[in-house]
Amino acid sequence: MHYVSTRGKAPILDFSGVLLEGLANDGGLYIPEAWPQLSDSGTGDYLKTAVETMSLFLGSSISSEAFEEIVKEAYSSFRDEEITPLVDMGKDLYLLELFHGPTLAFKDVALQLVGKLFDHELKKQGKRITIVGATSGDTGSAAIEACRDKENIEMVILHPAGRVSEIQRRQMTTVKAENIHNVAIQGTFDDCQDLVKAMFADHDFRNRMQLSAINSINWARVMAQIVYFVVAAERLGGRKSPIAFSVPTGNFGNVFSGYAAHMSGVNITQLVVGSNKNDILTQFFNTGTMQINEVTPTTSPSMDIQISSNLERLLFELLNRDGQKVDKMLKEFRERKTISIDPDIRETLSNQWIGACFTDDEVKRCISEEADNSGIVLDPHSAIGVLAARECRKDKSIPMVALATAHPAKFPDAVEDATGIRPELPAHLADLLDRPEQYTQQPNDLATVQKYIEEVVG
Ligand SMILES: *Cc1c(COP(=O)(O)O)cnc(C)c1O
Repeated sequence: MHYVSTRGKAPILDFSGVLLEGLANDGGLYIPEAWPQLSDSGTGDYLKTAVETMSLFLGSSISSEAFEEIVKEAYSSFRDEEITPLVDMGKDLYLLELFHGPTLAFKDVALQLVGKLFDHELKKQGKRITIVGATSGDTGSAAIEACRDKENIEMVILHPAGRVSEIQRRQMTTVKAENIHNVAIQGTFDDCQDLVKAMFADHDFRNRMQLSAINSINWARVMAQIVYFVVAAERLGGRKSPIAFSVPTGNFGNVFSGYAAHMSGVNITQLVVGSNKNDILTQFFNTGTMQINEVTPTTSPSMDIQISSNLERLLFELLNRDGQKVDKMLKEFRERKTISIDPDIRETLSNQWIGACFTDDEVKRCISEEADNSGIVLDPHSAIGVLAARECRKDKSIPMVALATAHPAKFPDAVEDATGIRPELPAHLADLLDRPEQYTQQPNDLATVQKYIEEVVG
């Protein structure tokens, strides 16, 4: 299995290379040279499907015995034996619960695995790396939980100061491990992400620090997320039976994994992209044009994003895998703050993709009504998935799966505001509010943050 960059100029790598590299050195994202094809049937067993699906993308990078062991260990930290259980909401609408991992958000599904893959690969190669990541809240804690105390990894996580919830911050800053460094940046999530991108673009710094990424720009995360789209299809009629998904979207990693599952043989008829007030993706899917605006804080902070990195992977596909075109288009986007795709491309896109956005009030009403009607307690992100599923569904005879990306207790204020009941944290996090925190504050300034990283990584 070979991987190419969406900007067409970086070296072609195998899976191990892509795992450790993160962002391609031409500024692009890695993607398989060709989509591998799944067999027609599967059992619905998470671990079996995980091994089968991901092996297609690993090539010969990791032995199959070692990989099976890694998969088994990664998902032993999940509190539900089905790993990602499906809940029937009636009328052929299902909720796919992705929040049963250690940090209560769907990011654990990928990161529990990716942390172990990093460890395996670094030990094999006798290397050390520095993982630098930007988080809008949930990636940080999931990455920290996946990499704490790993001796070959130093980890620096940037989060936007004051723009992540207290629970989210504490899940990052209360982890006691020498290799973990939390930084609150005076800026937005996009500022944090730009800082990370700029550090990768600084080749001297990148080489000196042996930088690597664990953001959803890392292909390995997209790969790990493909699995639950396949498993959900298996549990609802089979890989070849039509199915639709609705995905509360921020950086576009999760929903792109759905597209990858489709390209690898799952019969996904519809991909619904749900957003909050930061509706740049809704504009894109419904008009073919997107325009960057200021980020507006909402009750679904993990989706408070304007520039969705993983959209680049879809653009690459839409532009017939022409890296030069992608490069030109994205440079233009940065300069002019707006881009449009050709009407005929938009036409093709609209056969499968659709976007919908919702206000905090609509989200609140959805959480409240769902709790009253079915007793299901949604977090604000998952509520957007459910709202978008109901609004955009094309064919009522095809099962629609809304992805539940966070446990309600991760966003207790919004959930309490909607239902009147404060959701309780699961037992392993019950004393989170009493644990001591540790983090530093830094300005939104590249040189200052780089200097800090050189100091702590040494
Ligand atoms: C990260 C996150 C999202 C957005 O997922 P992307 O892959 O970035 O699109 C949605 N909901 C929750 C709870 C998240 O943590």
